[in-house]
Amino acid sequence: MSDSNQSLTLRAPVAGVVVPLTAVPDPVFASLTLGEGIALDPLGECLHAPCDGEVVQCARTHHAFTLRTEAGVELLLHLGLDTVELNGKGIEPLVAVGDQVRAGDPLCRFDADALALGASALITPLVITEAAGWQLLPSKHREGERVSLGEPLLVLTRTAIEQSDTRADGPLAERRVTLALASGLHARPAARLRAIAREHNVNLTVQQECSSDNAASASASSLSALMNLGLTEGATLKLTAQGEAAEAALDAAERLLTTPEAEEHSAPASSTLTAVALKEGELAGLVASPGLAIGPLVSYQLPLPAVPLMGEGEAVETDRLKKALLSVGEALANAEAQATRQGQSAEAEIFAAHGAWLEDPDLAAAAGQHISEGRSAGQAWREALDAEAARLAASGNTLLAARVADLRDLQRRVMVELSDDQQAALPELPKGAVVVADELTPSELVAVATQHPAGLCLAGGGTTSHVAILARARGIPCLVAMGASLIDAANSATSESVILDAENGRLALSPSATQRAEVAERIDARRYEAEQAQALAHEPAMTLDGREIEVCANIGGAEEARLAADSGADGVGLLRSEFLFLERDSAPSEATQRDEYQAAVKALDGKPVIIRTLDIGADKQLPYLRLPSVPNPALGVRGARLWASQPELLETQLRALLGVTPLETLHIMLPMVTEVGELREVRKRLETLASEMGLDTRPRLGAMIEVPSAALCARSLAVEADFLSIGTNDLTQYTLAMDREDPALTARADVLHPAVLRLIQATVDGAKGHCPVGVCGAAAGDERVALLLVALGVDELSVEPARVPAVKAALRCLNAAALADELPALLALDDATAVRQHLSAWLAKANQTDITTTTLERC
Ligand code: PEP
Ligand code: MG
Repeated sequence: MSDSNQSLTLRAPVAGVVVPLTAVPDPVFASLTLGEGIALDPLGECLHAPCDGEVVQCARTHHAFTLRTEAGVELLLHLGLDTVELNGKGIEPLVAVGDQVRAGDPLCRFDADALALGASALITPLVITEAAGWQLLPSKHREGERVSLGEPLLVLTRTAIEQSDTRADGPLAERRVTLALASGLHARPAARLRAIAREHNVNLTVQQECSSDNAASASASSLSALMNLGLTEGATLKLTAQGEAAEAALDAAERLLTTPEAEEHSAPASSTLTAVALKEGELAGLVASPGLAIGPLVSYQLPLPAVPLMGEGEAVETDRLKKALLSVGEALANAEAQATRQGQSAEAEIFAAHGAWLEDPDLAAAAGQHISEGRSAGQAWREALDAEAARLAASGNTLLAARVADLRDLQRRVMVELSDDQQAALPELPKGAVVVADELTPSELVAVATQHPAGLCLAGGGTTSHVAILARARGIPCLVAMGASLIDAANSATSESVILDAENGRLALSPSATQRAEVAERIDARRYEAEQAQALAHEPAMTLDGREIEVCANIGGAEEARLAADSGADGVGLLRSEFLFLERDSAPSEATQRDEYQAAVKALDGKPVIIRTLDIGADKQLPYLRLPSVPNPALGVRGARLWASQPELLETQLRALLGVTPLETLHIMLPMVTEVGELREVRKRLETLASEMGLDTRPRLGAMIEVPSAALCARSLAVEADFLSIGTNDLTQYTLAMDREDPALTARADVLHPAVLRLIQATVDGAKGHCPVGVCGAAAGDERVALLLVALGVDELSVEPARVPAVKAALRCLNAAALADELPALLALDDATAVRQHLSAWLAKANQTDITTTTLERC
């Protein structure tokens, strides 16, 4: 999204999981009293500026920052919920009031573990507290979606009419009050004060009474000014209101400021259940992993390993606990390293989080206390973690409750170390069971998954829990937060099988035979299709008319290379090297880069790997490059254009790439090429460096076709390049002049627009006889569009690793020549909608209508 005086993009201040503001378990945020916005459950430990601006408020307790942009928009970043009570513990502020920051600049660092233990949640709202004359566009991010640091999160655009915040004149009234809020005048009461002023249509000011003449005052219309007063409990305040309802406003303000705050942040787990029209005999749950299942309902409960109740003395037991913690810590570190090597990033992150939690000094101290009271090390650990789990569960906060399973996992692991019994054997589950449990720890889930359950139903847990992530990674349908009645229902269930509908969030306990038959048919069709696609995933994709199409994978780095290899991909069609440059304070060194690229090449074991040079600019920014702010960065210095001003970046990256072996399978690709001169320049540079390094082999060098000029001049590029790869994401954006990040245009920014298709055709025609053409934009992963791309003459497709089997399966059912005959009719249509309809009708007629369900049976 281009920032201009008409629009403002707010970027993710931290990597995290999206939580809609209305779902934040704090009524002041959820009711939008503070303003509209979004929240993230953070995965990082540093908050960054979401846009350029001035720091106009930093909470005394470092947990909240307000930025004001040049255009007057004010944003509140509130680290965690109820973090005001931590009094700054675990947070290191990196900016002060008055500092000018650029998007991506760090605002504060925080210790996630310390905050998670001391606050009610880590969820971090980003709220637009002042935006007169601006409107927030609907967010395109869904609940539970993961976003990366710096990714565009929200977009504001100018409204035609500026809203005025001036209030009517009228009687003036004053009141003196003593602040009774234990945490002072922080964001929540400040927002309420502003709401009171608005509701009563008065000008309301707050002034601290003190001996000096120049006591600070603030208008209640400005949250940052109110918070900057730094008012603490016991402060004496003078409130002044002007307007017809001045007295009533002062009454409300006095009530607010003199009534101690209640504990009100926690929304009950059940309140977040999606509204499902439940039938008799059905239970509702949150969808943690989608899918359908039928099977016998089986309760799962694993007893904790036996440990002695009493210990053999404080010194002995303390030493035992220390050794057990060290041993589990080592096992977790090994498991993390192994998961990373295998490209299982979800697992790796979970092991890392458990390792960090294991080192928590408060847990160790609590266990130490029990040991000093005479307990054995195992029993002490058990009791310490029981108490912590009870505290989290009682918080009533679904996100914190989701962490209970992680605690239980740590409890079991350490107790196993301290037990003479080996870990209790996993109960044997009947084949295809729908497993019911109160909670499952991540390692229990991994163990249960080895018995291939049809589905999972959990009384507790949350959709962002680690168990949910693992269930999704394994494709096991799973509902969570189903409530305690689930366990009773499971114990008294009489039906021989149940239906788990983890698409609509319900469990049918006594389905009829007809219902079971209907769902079984749907499951069979999907399974058959997936199995067939999977079975042939490692085979080449040959169309019905004999064209072999390479289906490669798009990856973000070496960690995902294993996934690509396992998916059956014929190679890597796009490694977006910029991910290696993100979330750091400076560019990675040549050696770091070389190791990363080498690891990717090694994982693909002889298959080609296309590594794209750094594609920075527009929607992807590196704060440490300090690129000048320009009115329209999407049309500014980005991609290949960056090399003129930052030659050392290219130089280092090319050296790192040339250091990889074997160079035969490594291909280098340049992003955002506009004309052949850019390609020639890099070729020259590459040649010089390769000679300096004494290399005989040269990697293949290709160019991305992402802008109309490159597509229209494809011939000159193809003569110079070893391959071309079409980036349909940007090509669509630049052809249609529709920002790819603008949610208001998402539906219209369609690659099937005849203009985009004609540019793809121009690229293929231009390259004919010179070099192959691939597509690595998202369009290649959509089966129907992929078929059209191949009919247009594209030789290679590069898609998300998980899409490889399905795209290959679809290609095997395509008569590319027959679809190519239809191209003149398709390209003559008016718009993308017409193309989509025509294409669907043609595929239906060609008996390829439902590629995702039944085509394979027909092929
Ligand atoms: C594209 O533009 O289609 C592309 C693959 O590049 P990116 O999405 O990384 O900009
Ligand atoms: Mg691109």
